[in-house]
Amino acid sequence: MRFVLLGLAGAGKGTQAQLLAHRLGVPCVTSGDLFRSHQGLGTDLGLLAKSYMERGELVPDQVTISMVLERLGEEDCRDGFILDGFPRNLEQAVALEQALGEESVEWALYIEVEEDELANRLSGRVSCRQCGMPYQRDALPSDPATRCPSCGGELYQRLDDQPEVVRQRLQVQRPGLTQLLEHYTDHGKLVKINGEQSVGDVENEMLEALARYTAIS
Ligand code: AMP
Repeated sequence: MRFVLLGLAGAGKGTQAQLLAHRLGVPCVTSGDLFRSHQGLGTDLGLLAKSYMERGELVPDQVTISMVLERLGEEDCRDGFILDGFPRNLEQAVALEQALGEESVEWALYIEVEEDELANRLSGRVSCRQCGMPYQRDALPSDPATRCPSCGGELYQRLDDQPEVVRQRLQVQRPGLTQLLEHYTDHGKLVKINGEQSVGDVENEMLEALARYTAIS
């Protein structure tokens, strides 16, 4: 089981990646979380990534590719993984195929959401410092919501989810996404999912699509 989740920031990749990983019993590898964890640990890589992330720009490919490939080389990824946030452009997709082979990705699930809706979602999003799970502030059970309903970690608004950075991130991500949609369509691996539904309905659509295309039931 090796899947890639595609979509612009705020499409619901992080939420769905975690739900799917839990459901299918494979790890979810999230490039943004790997960078945030490096920052938390104060590594050189974390420091380098910080300046790009704060501006809503992509971290250079070489650094990103080696960080993700290193993670995919760990034991728990041997039987499969769900990639969230990587690849972000054609160069990264090609590097993944060169490192792990043509079949390194079975399906690329594209969560499709309109850009205005994404900007709204990102501005109202809070994330858990501990497990990385994103939430819509308004949909959380308690107000003010300060703790993650899933693991109890502290909830915070990411710097790059602040409105002035959000549009910039979406603009930066669009060309890479277009390349990837073409690439995975050409390889017969693209599956489109309607992301403008409830979290549960998006999850169901993904599971149905995977059941249709793979042996998962
Ligand atoms: P995300 O959590 O996916 O929204 O990513 C947050 C930030 O991490 C992005 O705005 C980029 O600066 C950086 N980042 C995450 N994934 C990648 C990637 N595959 N390539 C380059 N930069 C990335």
